[in-house]
Amino acid sequence: MCTHSPTCPDLASADCCTAQVVADHNGDQGWCRLCNGVILFDDGHYLTPDGHDAPITLAS
Ligand SMILES: [Zn+2]
Repeated sequence: MCTHSPTCPDLASADCCTAQVVADHNGDQGWCRLCNGVILFDDGHYLTPDGHDAPITLAS
């Protein structure tokens, strides 16, 4: 469960890619895992735990 403050966006949120990084493997494996379970890949897409794969879009 998320213990961050403010709480990270959940998977249903349009800004789910802005959750806190909890496991950073960008340096060696090219991905990082966010607090809400989203995996961000360094080639510009992300994968959710339920198998949804989409381009990363960060709200500005
Ligand atoms: Zn969190």
